[in-house]
Amino acid sequence: MQIHETIASFRAALDEARRAGATVGMVPTMGYLHDGHASLMRQAAADNDVAAASIFVNPLQFAANEDLASYPRDLDRDVGLATESGVTHVLAPSVVEMYPEPVLTVVSVAEITQRFEGAIRPTHFAGVATVVAKLFGINGPCRAYFGEKDYQQLAVVRRMASDLSLPVEVVGCPTVREDDGLAMSSRNVYLTAEERAAAPVLHRALTGAAELVTAGERDPRVVQAALAAPIRAEPLARLDYAAVVDARSLADLDPLVGELRLLVAATFGRARLLDNRGVVAD
Ligand code: AMP
Repeated sequence: MQIHETIASFRAALDEARRAGATVGMVPTMGYLHDGHASLMRQAAADNDVAAASIFVNPLQFAANEDLASYPRDLDRDVGLATESGVTHVLAPSVVEMYPEPVLTVVSVAEITQRFEGAIRPTHFAGVATVVAKLFGINGPCRAYFGEKDYQQLAVVRRMASDLSLPVEVVGCPTVREDDGLAMSSRNVYLTAEERAAAPVLHRALTGAAELVTAGERDPRVVQAALAAPIRAEPLARLDYAAVVDARSLADLDPLVGELRLLVAATFGRARLLDNRGVVAD
């Protein structure tokens, strides 16, 4: 395992690997790794000759009132987990290494960033798209692995890479869950014991609403209400949104048809949790 603190050394290592004919898989993360991240790393290692990861808590994607300062960090543990998952190069840069000067160039993706997370966190996706474009520039030609857990982010990254013709194949990977259905997230550490016990309501709500679609329901209002109801009924949850949209465009559909995505976000105490699942209306 090589840990690179500089962009130059990480780039040189991957350039050398490609010159020797190796394919490269890349997993961008903010660290505090869990088995969701590990699954992306294992996939990157399985699909490619060399698997690399970045660990960088990106200030650009946090608004002033958000949890940048308290975001959990543990680089030593992360390096151990990345190594076990088949990663041989980690980029772990400082903020000054990534942003030596104030950032004047911002990558902004229209339309698909406007709803859901983008409506609640108006500067978030520009921060994500900018750092991912930068990481793709640092990394060079590769496959890059992202979790479906952050479904809107995956859509934004795919579109950004395609619109800018970046030499990166974006690969989406399934959400890894705890035994009770809670999607793994670095932010789950913010949950109190009571909130942790309540949080699987998101997964239950998604499962129930998906079953309605599978049973033939095609009215988006009915499905959206069924998705929201269990979360609204949970006293420790504050629902941010519950929606059923087209899986590719994230646009509303009426009636529901084709590949759909159910999206939810809710706040439990200090933790904002996101979850989603796919379902087909055929
Ligand atoms: P983060 O460190 O939270 O920025 O996440 C880094 C990458 O891991 C993103 O592509 C996430 O979508 C992905 N990821 C986070 N949690 C999970 C999970 N439970 N299952 C699969 N991928 C995940």
